[in-house]
Amino acid sequence: MATLEINSLRKRFGTIEVLKGIDISLEKGGFLVLVGPSGCGKSTLLNTIAGLEGISSGEIRIGGAVVNDLHPSKRDIAMVFQSYALYPNMSVAENIGFGMEMRGVPRAERDQAVASVARTLQIEHLLSRRPSQLSGGQRQRVAMGRALVRRPSVFLFDEPLSNLDAKLRVDMRVEIKRLHQTTGTTIVYVTHDQIEAMTLATKIAVLKNGELQQVGSPSEIYNRPANMFVADFMGSPA
Ligand code: ADP
Ligand code: MG
Repeated sequence: MATLEINSLRKRFGTIEVLKGIDISLEKGGFLVLVGPSGCGKSTLLNTIAGLEGISSGEIRIGGAVVNDLHPSKRDIAMVFQSYALYPNMSVAENIGFGMEMRGVPRAERDQAVASVARTLQIEHLLSRRPSQLSGGQRQRVAMGRALVRRPSVFLFDEPLSNLDAKLRVDMRVEIKRLHQTTGTTIVYVTHDQIEAMTLATKIAVLKNGELQQVGSPSEIYNRPANMFVADFMGSPA
């Protein structure tokens, strides 16, 4: 059974249809990268999975259960955005543990979970710092920690690296790949960066104007693009 299944998903804003019948299935532990030009509907699709946007028709299943009408907090997901809003007056440890604190998780259990996530992300030495004392890459790691600590079935990333400089972007790409390999989390990752897509994905979905052009492994997409748009966008050999 797929961990994430999207069937005939449509989304309108007013009279404009932004997602025009999307079908996606992602197995447990899969890394789906959603690519496409700016404005094609990538963030909207991610937001509907997260429950931040309602859908016009279709179905979204997480772990087999239909979540169409489920509040974001009740969905088994966690999302990392491109702007990582950390709480400025809390330490890194408090930022990561905040969600658990709100849910009434006891202190000892919380500390243990925070320590374990910090180990995974290699930010143990930063736990007592404030966000203002961190670099961009470190902040992004803390934002990932905050999501990871929830142990979601599905991890959603919306262009998490696009605010970082080129060198850091490559480092973080390696980091995210390692995170995926060591935790076996199921990930949906949005980017408009083809290289990021090729290096991270187990499966790539190419979106254009709210319609999927092709879904396949990186090598399928690159070597056997379904149409000119995919070939162009992924930079496949002519
Ligand atoms: P991407 O993330 O691929 O750049 P988006 O999903 O953000 O694209 O946007 C897809 C389209 O939907 C764009 O044309 C955008 O203007 C429109 N859109 C996004 N959010 C809203 C909204 N809340 N209200 C109206 N239109 C929106
Ligand atoms: Mg976007």
